[in-house]
Amino acid sequence: MNAEVANLALSVRGLRKRFGDFVALDGVNMSVNRGEVRAVIGPNGAGKTTLINVLSGHYVADAGDVYVEGKRLKRQYPHQVSRLGVGRTFQISSTFRRMTVYDNMLCAHNAAQGNWLSLKVSKLRNLRDLVMRDLQTIRLNHLATQVVDDISHGDRKRLEFGMVLATQPQLLLLDEPTAGMGLSERHELIDLVLDVSRERGLTLLFVEHDIDVVFKAAEQITVMALGKVFAEGTPAEIAQNSDVQEIYLGKKASC
Ligand code: ADP
Ligand code: MG
Repeated sequence: MNAEVANLALSVRGLRKRFGDFVALDGVNMSVNRGEVRAVIGPNGAGKTTLINVLSGHYVADAGDVYVEGKRLKRQYPHQVSRLGVGRTFQISSTFRRMTVYDNMLCAHNAAQGNWLSLKVSKLRNLRDLVMRDLQTIRLNHLATQVVDDISHGDRKRLEFGMVLATQPQLLLLDEPTAGMGLSERHELIDLVLDVSRERGLTLLFVEHDIDVVFKAAEQITVMALGKVFAEGTPAEIAQNSDVQEIYLGKKASC
């Protein structure tokens, strides 16, 4: 490993993933600096979710290397990758819908601390404090006693973000965090994600379809197509890239 990789939050080299004959990731290279806000965009089927699944240990790559904070991921399971400081959310909601907002956060904190089998009163008190702090951070304390099924879609997405924060990540991977939300809600959530990431010094990699959100939030944008990195650059560079305009920006409706 060279010194450059050791200083990066994330380094991806020659990453490949196939499903049968279909090549979903076809030699992906990517470097993300510590504290950077990186958006990954691209048409449906480009391989964005597959990339996040490999980075978070949900899929095993067929080839290539991933380094997180200079440490090489081997064939770790998702909970082991999580302990290395990688937190992720899913494109599809992943909360316990019949439980309250508070209990969802409590479960997330409890699991993050590895307290599966025993729970002393002192630990519970400590967990309660953490849950209350994080509910305040994600501005859901007023809904703490509500069952998740009864809260709005936007509040559920906010809760998912809170639950991933409970794992104390250094690198946050968010797969379409604003999917299905209204315009103002989308901007509110991404502003919250940016504020918390900045406050806690996190590195953020997010997949997002709303190009206005991407251009507002991202410092660097990676454009994927057909399992490859098609282009990379600052929002200004990507906006001026005519190939990107053709495959992605010009065809917003199909993305
Ligand atoms: P994106 O998130 O960019 O829309 P995905 O990473 O979800 O794209 O999918 C990339 C391609 O890989 C798609 O054609 C999809 O059908 C395929 N794919 C993803 N996951 C699987 C899987 N578990 N089994 C088979 N094919 C898959
Ligand atoms: Mg996807």
